[in-house]
Order: sequence, then structure tokens, then C-alpha cells
Amino acid sequence: MLCRHCQRVKSNRPRGLCWSCYYKPGVRELYPSTSKFARRGVGDFNGKSSPAAQPTRALPGTPEKVAVLEERARLGLSLWHPLDANIDAECGVLEAAG
Ligand SMILES: [Zn+2]
Repeated sequence: MLCRHCQRVKSNRPRGLCWSCYYKPGVRELYPSTSKFARRGVGDFNGKSSPAAQPTRALPGTPEKVAVLEERARLGLSLWHPLDANIDAECGVLEAAG
């Protein structure tokens, strides 16, 4: 199978892309994952992840936090943000909220 983007080289990266297209900025976004597992959740993710854009105040284990993680994973972002709420920081979060 040839690369879906340049149609010149055999694809050897996920999403039917060749190595250089896969790693060319912006190209990967044009070709959604072809993995049959992707629809069930998050597909394989290789490469550098960008930091999450926003911290979340949702605490670990809450549905809100899971939704945030799903969204980050879908966007190929790092799942964790240094300023995310966590159990240890809960008191600080509550103070900040008051
Ligand atoms: Zn290519």
C-alpha cells in the first residue's frame, strides 16, 4: 500500500502514511487513524506529545477527569498537566475556589 499522502512511497507508518509524511507537521491530522481499534478509544500514539493546553480542576477518578483525559488523548496531547488538580492539592484547589 502506497502512502496516502504522497502516493510515491510504500507506507510504513500508521494511518497509511510514509515515514516522511507521517512526521511532516500537519499531514497526520489530515488522515484519521485507520486502526479498527481507534473507534473504541484512543489509537496508538507515537511520537512527541504536546503539553495539555489547560489544566483541569477535575479530581482523579471523576467522570469529568476521565472526559478531560479522553479529549487530550484524542488530540494527541500529553495526558497530564502539571497544574491538574490531584488529591494532594485538593485543599489548595478548594482554597483557590473560595
Ligand atoms: Zn508519503
